Amino acid sequence: MEDYAKAIFGLGRDSGNGQASVGDLASRLGVTPGSASAMVKRLVAQGLVVHQRYRGVSLTPDGEALALAVIRRHRLIETFLAEELGMPWDQVHHEADVIEHVLSDTVVDLIAAKLGDPTHDPHGDPIPARDLTMDEPRTTTLWDAPDGASMLFASVSDSDPTMLRHLGEHGIRPGTRIRVVKHEPFDGPVRIRVGRSAHSIGPSLARSMRLCDDGDAAE
Ligand SMILES: [Zn+2]
Repeated sequence: MEDYAKAIFGLGRDSGNGQASVGDLASRLGVTPGSASAMVKRLVAQGLVVHQRYRGVSLTPDGEALALAVIRRHRLIETFLAEELGMPWDQVHHEADVIEHVLSDTVVDLIAAKLGDPTHDPHGDPIPARDLTMDEPRTTTLWDAPDGASMLFASVSDSDPTMLRHLGEHGIRPGTRIRVVKHEPFDGPVRIRVGRSAHSIGPSLARSMRLCDDGDAAE
């Protein structure tokens, strides 16, 4: 149930209107459309989700609170594994996906206190505060950023370890300044500069990397 709430939250953010289709939900969770729609029915019965025909599913305020609580746990665990235990940033997501469902809120709050109430996880994503408010900076993907822009690398999708390793090897981490040099035509790579080095970022990675202006930069 927590995974569904989290997935609907993420898909709703991606779509921009809080709605997720049952098909997208099934593919994000790696389940069949049949089992996704059975689970959606249970979530509707529990008052966590609203299902509108032809529009998809969206979270109720209770559902959103559940999603934010899981996201807080997930991102705090990732930060703890990376900062306190020294686990590489491309490995923490998978571990957190497992541990997030078994830790109590008491332990999660202790982890937050131990880390000094961090505001961002190792991938640059904002961590919801204890009251479940979350400060989400306005970002754009590298793919959509205009040539000539100079922006800060805010975050990257944490679900693909190979992408994270690739970026890490080139010293590209949240907070790094990125200059967008040129989008090569015909869906070619995006040429960027980081410090003095030049990099070529392929379309799928460029779509997963989010950039923000300095004003509300990730930490
Ligand atoms: Zn993660």
